[in-house]
Amino acid sequence: MTSEETISDYPAANLKTVLASVQAARDAALAPAPATHLIAVSKGHAGTRILPVLRAGHRIFGENRVQEAKAKWPELRTSFPGIELHLIGPLQTNKAREAVELFDCIHSLDRPKLAEALKVEMEKLGKTPKLFVQVNTGEETQKAGIAPKETVSFVRHCRDNLKLPIIGLMCIPPQGEEPALHFALLKKLSNECGLESLSMGMSADFETAIRFSATHVRVGTAIFGTRV
Ligand SMILES: *Cc1c(COP(=O)(O)O)cnc(C)c1O
Repeated sequence: MTSEETISDYPAANLKTVLASVQAARDAALAPAPATHLIAVSKGHAGTRILPVLRAGHRIFGENRVQEAKAKWPELRTSFPGIELHLIGPLQTNKAREAVELFDCIHSLDRPKLAEALKVEMEKLGKTPKLFVQVNTGEETQKAGIAPKETVSFVRHCRDNLKLPIIGLMCIPPQGEEPALHFALLKKLSNECGLESLSMGMSADFETAIRFSATHVRVGTAIFGTRV
């Protein structure tokens, strides 16, 4: 084996470690979700670094930009059947069509205008990716997401008026704050909405998120290494 192959294979070893940590966190949790899905976040990484993870059998991936995903995934998808692609980054309304075409799940629905655009494109394309509503649990001005106090009414609007397939809530805790407080708030809001899925937890805090019943953890750096 050349040293190049050794380097390019390390994401598969990392994947194994992260999957074991997910299982250990579930085993230790008092109230883990019925299942915790690991989304391998491949943003910022080329196909060559994603391949070992695909070859190891992993099929759930996350990207945060429509254009980047469009450049990378159609080709990988033809070689590896069963890929489930999640959009975890902010979505502009004018990219709603491409997002509906490309992704199986969108985690960043956070405003009425985007909800309406997604509705229109889903009807046109006859394709219905599952949706998470992103909540700005830290109420940070620069961060995407609906305010916590508006979450229940927004989810109701999306679900009941627009008939969108909302499956859960998503959050990204503020830097430097205790993530557990934000995971607890997201869980409480999701109970109030009657939703089942919780997209929360990244490389640094996915084990904590699992304690608060995360159903989807989004892990990039711990699998693929540092982004350039
Ligand atoms: C990049 C990103 C992640 C993964 O972050 P890591 O710290 O690399 O695990 C998770 N969620 C979102 C929304 C992201 O943008």
